[in-house]
Amino acid sequence: MSFPPSLTRPARAVAVAALSGALCLGTLGATTATAAAADPVAGARTSGDSLFPNVGNGGYDVQHYDLDIAWTPGAPVATASTIAATARISATAAVPLSEFSLDFEGLTVDSITVDGAPATWERDIDAATTKYKLVVTPAEPVEGDFTAVVTYSGSPVTHIDPDGSREGWIAGDDGATAVNEPVGAMTWYPVNNSLKDKAKYDIKLTIPRLMDGETMAAASNGTLHSKTRNGALETWHWKQPNQMVPYLSMVSIGKYEVRESVIELESGTYRDWTFLDAAMTSTQRTTTLASLAQTQDIMRWLESKFGPYPGVATGAVVDRINVGYALETQDRSFYQNSVSKGTLIHEIAHQWFGNAVSPTDWSDLWLNEGMGDYAPRAYNYETGATTTSPETSYFNSWNASAPTSGQWQVPLAGFTDPAILFDYVYGRGGMTFETLRTIVGDEAWFEILRTWVAENNGSDASTADFVALANRISGQDVTPVLNPWLYGTAKPAWASKWNLSVASDPAGPLAPGDTVTHTLTAENTGKVAIAGQTVTVDVADLVDDARLGALPAELVNLGGKLRWTIPATSAGQSATVTFPATVKESASGGTVGVTASTTALGSFCVTCSASTAIADQADAWTLGLSAAPLPGAVEAGDEITYTVSAKNTAVHALEGATAEIDLADVLDDASVVSLGTGLELDGTTLRWSVPRVASGQTARAEFTVEVESESGATLTVSASPGTAGGSGEPTLTHTVGLKPLSPAPVPVVSGTGRVGTVLTARAGTWPAGTALAYQWSVGGKVVAGATGATYRLTPRDLGRVVAVAVTGTKSGWASVTKVSAPLRVAPGLLTRKPQPFHVGLPKVGRTLKVKAGTWDPGVRLSYRWYRGSKAIKGATKTSYRLTKADRGQRIRVKVTATKPGYATVVRYTPRTARVLR
Ligand SMILES: [Zn+2]
Repeated sequence: MSFPPSLTRPARAVAVAALSGALCLGTLGATTATAAAADPVAGARTSGDSLFPNVGNGGYDVQHYDLDIAWTPGAPVATASTIAATARISATAAVPLSEFSLDFEGLTVDSITVDGAPATWERDIDAATTKYKLVVTPAEPVEGDFTAVVTYSGSPVTHIDPDGSREGWIAGDDGATAVNEPVGAMTWYPVNNSLKDKAKYDIKLTIPRLMDGETMAAASNGTLHSKTRNGALETWHWKQPNQMVPYLSMVSIGKYEVRESVIELESGTYRDWTFLDAAMTSTQRTTTLASLAQTQDIMRWLESKFGPYPGVATGAVVDRINVGYALETQDRSFYQNSVSKGTLIHEIAHQWFGNAVSPTDWSDLWLNEGMGDYAPRAYNYETGATTTSPETSYFNSWNASAPTSGQWQVPLAGFTDPAILFDYVYGRGGMTFETLRTIVGDEAWFEILRTWVAENNGSDASTADFVALANRISGQDVTPVLNPWLYGTAKPAWASKWNLSVASDPAGPLAPGDTVTHTLTAENTGKVAIAGQTVTVDVADLVDDARLGALPAELVNLGGKLRWTIPATSAGQSATVTFPATVKESASGGTVGVTASTTALGSFCVTCSASTAIADQADAWTLGLSAAPLPGAVEAGDEITYTVSAKNTAVHALEGATAEIDLADVLDDASVVSLGTGLELDGTTLRWSVPRVASGQTARAEFTVEVESESGATLTVSASPGTAGGSGEPTLTHTVGLKPLSPAPVPVVSGTGRVGTVLTARAGTWPAGTALAYQWSVGGKVVAGATGATYRLTPRDLGRVVAVAVTGTKSGWASVTKVSAPLRVAPGLLTRKPQPFHVGLPKVGRTLKVKAGTWDPGVRLSYRWYRGSKAIKGATKTSYRLTKADRGQRIRVKVTATKPGYATVVRYTPRTARVLR
């Protein structure tokens, strides 16, 4: 329904306060709960509506109304016209009914049959509580499908609503119009006047073809099935094949210009029957035609938002009659006097919101009118007719509305006073829809709308159903924000809205030690300030390769996640926070990534993940090879287990490395017994896919071969790295059939072990005929050329260990090498270290000279003169001139002998006599 601003709503005319006591009635079920299942019961005289508890009936469900109405004009037309009608009602009784009721106000019932048999009836009327029952008692109880035929006649009444408005049958100067929201349908046909009982319709209107010489027409819902002339009369037969709730049925009889056209929509082609009152002024006509010319554009736009057009046809009925409002009668809306663009959008939007999906209860009416209010604002904004968005428009309305405004004093949904049915459902309803759009975002918002229509088309649905759908599609609980709008009795807060994003700098790729900075931004895109909402930042993909730097106060580290509490931020402003991280030395490849998220209603992720690549670092690893038994002699039937190893010497993990092991000289004399994980034999090449190796760690793989050849064969395994950074090309050789030489004693080294002396290797007793080879090593390294039985220790060897390896070789035996126990080299001892003395007279002014004697070659001597026990400053030469300070003192010299690799020797000269003056 729509109240044009130019029309004044009638004053509230009927007091209905007494109604509230009658609300706790049953629902669609039968009233006689104690009856046995098969016993007929009386159908309930209510459908349980909370605003109109005496309207609607229970126990049955109407499938179809076939209304055949003949209208006869009286003189004057507006007060003396009459109808004679037959209503054929096809219904289904859920349980056997001994009686059932219909809603029917005014008119005279002439006869009723049920399934062809005459029935009795009574009328149970209480106008003060909107109770107009036609109670039918069939000859036999009805069960399942049944048909009731009611003939009736008279001059229909106009129903006056609790809010004082006129509805139902409204007579005019040139005919009559019936518009029925909420309960007026009962003034022109007996009806189950319930929101929860939709049905299909055939409406046949028989009228004079001409009146006062002017053409008459009869409009209704759906498609015009036929127009049949019978003398001066003409029958207009309208068919409504879709489900329609009674309040959306409509007839209008009058002097009309009928315009037929076609509307092309995405969902198909629809016929348009439009009725223009011949009495419209030229201004009304011009306005109306300009608006109606946009019907196709409006319907196409609405289809794009709500889904396929749910109607069967379209059009408008524009009547000069005193109704007071426009109404979204199904398919073809009713307009008083003229059609404005805004009202046209409003009523067509109702074809989805209200008509295809009707409210379950009259207290759910905001679902109709909220969208009727919303759609024109959205259409005009999106098509550029206005620069004010619905959001801005509704926010301004909210902002300008005092907390004491009437619209905040009663719940939007679930109010109980029918006198305020239409008072607050428009503006507050539209704001409530805008609030939902604000908190769930456009994508979910439009999906909610389309799903609402798709899932409930042809039926009814409640506010609770709508909230449940909003929760389901948004994946969030919208009730904390929506409930104050729906059920509150105080002005609700305007919902906030903000966009969350995260960015990283620099772009990468990053190197170890680089600092990467992440910036979180909360952009307030709404109308009111935000504060205290939280963002969770998953840093699991950051801390594996980087170290978080110092965090600002509003970021709290919860271990693997950071929590950002957004500071107070005005509408249109943004809050940001940054935090640094430093890439670990060990990082190579991979990414530094963060993901921000928030569950706050009205928050939307724009770019909530940032990922920065880390450059690959060069690999470094060493390939190794060992065997058990150790290289040497083996026999046929022996197994040799080789272990190949890769030691990661880089600071980052080694990944994807490979090695190749050449078995060409093994497989000719042995066969593979087992291969460890990651090893794959390809011909004579064994390929090793090295598993991931952490820095400093070693990966190993084993394989075992069984020796098959007899004596004399050699098995040589060589391995080489297959990927970059690998070093080492180890080789191992086993010899088949040769036993190791025995006995093979461990050599013993004799000597003092001091630098400058000679060590002698004593090989011990080997088998006769054994050739012995010597190899000396110092500090574990072979000394080139040191292959004799003796070795002279040099100063370079000091402090290191010396050992000798003796290899015994004899034909027919496998060579054996034995290594002596290591000997740590001690400093050498000087052999010549003579007693120094001095010459000269110990008298002030004379010079003393020291005579050091002859020391070992290579010895370096240094001197220090002493006066008594104190060193004489600067006196470090071989001669010293005595001074007055020396008078009466005894002088001597310390001689220090040093030689690399040798122990230092200190000797003193004898003291002089006391120095003379
Ligand atoms: Zn409306």
